[in-house]
Amino acid sequence: MAGVTDTKAAREETGKAFAVLAAEISQCRRCPRLVEYRERMAREKRRAYRDWDYWGRPVPGFGDPDARLLIIGLAPAAHGANRTGRMFTGDRSGDFLYRALYETGFASQPESRSREDGLRLTGAYIGAAARCAPPDNRPSRDEMAACRGYLEREIALLKNLTVVVALGRIAFDTYLSVLRDRRGEAIRPAPHFAHAAVFDAGPEWPLLIASYHPSQQNTSTGRLTLAMLTGVFETARAALTGRGGNTSAGTAATAGERRRDV
Ligand code: SF4
Repeated sequence: MAGVTDTKAAREETGKAFAVLAAEISQCRRCPRLVEYRERMAREKRRAYRDWDYWGRPVPGFGDPDARLLIIGLAPAAHGANRTGRMFTGDRSGDFLYRALYETGFASQPESRSREDGLRLTGAYIGAAARCAPPDNRPSRDEMAACRGYLEREIALLKNLTVVVALGRIAFDTYLSVLRDRRGEAIRPAPHFAHAAVFDAGPEWPLLIASYHPSQQNTSTGRLTLAMLTGVFETARAALTGRGGNTSAGTAATAGERRRDV
């Protein structure tokens, strides 16, 4: 009985720590360019959303505090998460991502429209390389460096983390830099970004899976299809059930397309 109580108490502690972190993130003003942009987008709004009360602040991570799967995106979209206040919520990238998460059992529903839409993630948590919407979807190197600590803290709080899916090259590189600091050395040979590539940094580190970002540019051109993205989360699911899959250190090895690019 004590074990059950301890587990419950530990979960509550973790939940509280995530809530504290989320509150801190949502008040951050460290990057002047991004603060100006996110707030201006929230004031000016897109015509289709003129009745919305935009979030207009940094967007905290979203998901299950007990997650074994961490998904890392790039940054909120100006009229997506910067409007709704939840990761990948309210834009076409989110439509794509949550459909794939629903198909693979990580999300309770295939759509993500607002913070109050009832969506729940089970076993998965979504973070990002930067928490504020950037102009042209491109945070600067300095802005990402300023923001990286929030991702590091989320990773530290995810005690059962087993698999990381990086959406796009920037998220991939950001995670590798976090991993390098945690391990005290870089992975050798250096992993190269490729869609559906899997990297095993060793038994005590999460498996890393690369994916093209579900940006409109990638999905509308067919560079990333729903089947390809679902395949990435099927690989993640297989890895979670026994660290399965065909993987080797620093080597791209899994099903799906393997073109190198964004
Ligand atoms: S990008 Fe990150 S560090 Fe910069 S203002 Fe937003 S939350 Fe703060």
